[in-house]
Amino acid sequence: MGDPRILFAASEVYPFAKSGGLADVAYSLPRALNDRYDVDVILPLYQFIDRERFGIQAIGETLHIKMGGIEYPVTVYSCDYEDMTYRFIYTPLLCDREFLYGPPHGGYEDNDIRFALFNYAMLEILKRDQYEIVHLNDWQTALLPLLLNNEPEIKTKSLFTIHNLAYQGVFQKKALSKLGIDEKYFHMDCLEFYGEVNFMKAGIAYADKITTVSPTYAKEILTPEFGCGLEGFLQYHSAKLTGIVNGIDTEHFSPSHDKMIVKPYVDLRGKAVNKRAFLKEIKVKDPKRPLVVFIGRFTWQKGLEIFINALPDMALEACNIVILGEGEKQYHDAFKALAKKHDNIYMEFGYDEALSHRMYAASDFFLMPSLFEPCGLAQMIAMHYGSMPIVHSVGGLTDTVHDHASFDKKSQKGYGVVFTKPDPHAFLHAVKKALQLYRMKARYNKIRKHNMLCDFSWRESGELYIKEYEYLREEGQRG
Ligand code: ADP
Repeated sequence: MGDPRILFAASEVYPFAKSGGLADVAYSLPRALNDRYDVDVILPLYQFIDRERFGIQAIGETLHIKMGGIEYPVTVYSCDYEDMTYRFIYTPLLCDREFLYGPPHGGYEDNDIRFALFNYAMLEILKRDQYEIVHLNDWQTALLPLLLNNEPEIKTKSLFTIHNLAYQGVFQKKALSKLGIDEKYFHMDCLEFYGEVNFMKAGIAYADKITTVSPTYAKEILTPEFGCGLEGFLQYHSAKLTGIVNGIDTEHFSPSHDKMIVKPYVDLRGKAVNKRAFLKEIKVKDPKRPLVVFIGRFTWQKGLEIFINALPDMALEACNIVILGEGEKQYHDAFKALAKKHDNIYMEFGYDEALSHRMYAASDFFLMPSLFEPCGLAQMIAMHYGSMPIVHSVGGLTDTVHDHASFDKKSQKGYGVVFTKPDPHAFLHAVKKALQLYRMKARYNKIRKHNMLCDFSWRESGELYIKEYEYLREEGQRG
């Protein structure tokens, strides 16, 4: 008998499609579990995925999936990439789009049909192929547990991971008929959410187990402050909820093997080479100053109000500030205006994986003033590359970054500068403290060296996922 089969589903998976941390997790977690299980990863075959580069081929006939009285042609594709098997769902309505979810300022109107089709297609696969567990991620995959509830002959158990509760997949009630979902599910214990249809609720209600991406976020989402209106519903289902902190792929994000940086490195001397090269690349005026960077989506969640309000004062400090990101227009405009005014602020708009790696390698400090942060990967990547994070203590940031004042070189924890009040003053104060620490070279370097050696891989958290999987397999065997 082979290893137990797992189908791992996400709407984005690195390197095929990525808008944020979900894609990193969907790349790295299945790999961490693949020794123990036979994991297939499944995602939509968006038109921008390079079929030739990855050798993606159709498998089997085109299926005709009926949803809400309409038939949709669906083809399953597959490829092997770095010893993993990937499956892709192709149907024009889901895949033939410029963006994953919609242009930067809003989602596509038919995202309900698009992602419901993804779920129906997976249901077809589960009817044909035997998987013991389907591991689902975020609202784009959250309908499947409800669909499985209607198919008692399918024995697959479901694990639903919430990466960000702020995105729930909420659509008008009329979606129900388009999605072929019975009105009986439209009540407050299931899909209904203030008169609308909520995909995330289907996952929470019907999945056999739920995880979220850090222990602190698992507690936070049970409160009105972070529950995004679902705190009561989550409290009701909290017996099946666990928080497991994400890991990073320490091969992909490895300063010693990174092909995207100028010079791979194992120590701070090697890091300095990357800093010098990067400062030359962006032509900074005063390269002796500490380099402070921000990489992330321009959304409210990432604390951009705090950041933008603090930025004029930050720019008066002796440092260089480099910002890479894209998202909401008001933030683009504000950053652009500030960069014009201050010659030590450098802006890069857009999504650029290689540039982000050069920035992790070059930077001295990494900013994360997030208002909420389910886990956050960037702070761990930063620490791994010897860049010290400056973070608001919330969600996964609380679990992964400890304040440098309590630095203990014997611990396995990562250290940075932590502030607890999400306002521009507290943030600015933290930045100033960080710049002071920078001047205390011996201590600053000791902490950075320690961070670079910490284990941010999936080793420990992978074991916790194995525990969840084994629980579900035992349940499945009990029938
Ligand atoms: P989130 O998933 O909320 O966006 P995370 O910190 O979990 O935040 O993950 C963000 C990931 O996306 C990291 O790998 C980060 O380096 C990357 N990233 C975010 N914005 C950009 C960008 N503009 N260019 C390149 N990489 C980016």
